[in-house]
Amino acid sequence: MAMNITYEIRDALYINITNRCTNHCVFCVRSKQDGLMPGASLWLKREPSVAEVLAAIEKRDMSRYREVVFCGYGEPLSRVYDIIEICKKLKAQYPLPIRINTNGQANLLYGKDITPLLAGYVDYISVSLNAKDAYSYQAMCRSEYGEAAFSGLLAFAERCKKHIPHVALSVVDVLPAEDIERCREIAGKIGVDFRVRHFVG
Ligand code: SF4
Repeated sequence: MAMNITYEIRDALYINITNRCTNHCVFCVRSKQDGLMPGASLWLKREPSVAEVLAAIEKRDMSRYREVVFCGYGEPLSRVYDIIEICKKLKAQYPLPIRINTNGQANLLYGKDITPLLAGYVDYISVSLNAKDAYSYQAMCRSEYGEAAFSGLLAFAERCKKHIPHVALSVVDVLPAEDIERCREIAGKIGVDFRVRHFVG
């Protein structure tokens, strides 16, 4: 079966480059179903090379999209160096903004600040906050970094502000209203946007 490296949601082109993730979220669609759309598995039998990703993008009519989004069954920034290569080509060829949806743990993963690498390539980064505090985050997201993941993702989002024009923390709309408000305050405190996403379960 062919790998679904790219897929469409409304007028955005999504790029699926890895199934690796440092989280094991209880709500992750990876553990529930095979794809976001029937017949479109996002499981990769192996990670596609940069050339394969670019070839998959070239098959698309890019004039139909208003945005390119790195997102999939896994954490895109597990492949930050490959993302930069792909973004370089995309930016040279198409006038489209690029977004990354991330768990915000890349600096923990690489053991250094990778946010400067994204400057000039990524226009919008959406970091999943998911919970109002470290304890609840870990109960829900089961990060390989334990409760340190929560402060790590907040520090990551704050660093992104220096290099990326639009930074947001996001939560899904299944959280209790008071938790959503607490999360909104956290975003306000570090000076980034806040986004409530509709849960796709
Ligand atoms: S961060 Fe995203 S890809 Fe990773 S386990 Fe959680 S929901 Fe799944």
